[in-house]
Amino acid sequence: MPKILGLIHNCKDCPSYQYYSGGAYECSQVRQRLPANEAIPAWCPLPDHPAVAMVQQANRIRELERRLTKPEPIREPGYDIHGDRLG
Ligand code: SF4
Repeated sequence: MPKILGLIHNCKDCPSYQYYSGGAYECSQVRQRLPANEAIPAWCPLPDHPAVAMVQQANRIRELERRLTKPEPIREPGYDIHGDRLG
């Protein structure tokens, strides 16, 4: 899974990728050894791309825009959406 704005596709791209010892590398964020294949491990602390917060914000903006352009009709008790009395 790409991380942070799609800039990091493997640990080697990341500024937290640091040499440990004996040819092994570690993640300086969490001080854990990284896989030899440089693939991003499941425990990576970076947010996924697109970040959940970005998706939630985009959905909220879309919902607010929808409400502004197509406001829901106000229903009075006992009347339908056209203002006609029910029953
Ligand atoms: S595991 Fe560490 S080094 Fe790898 S991408 Fe995540 S933060 Fe960067």
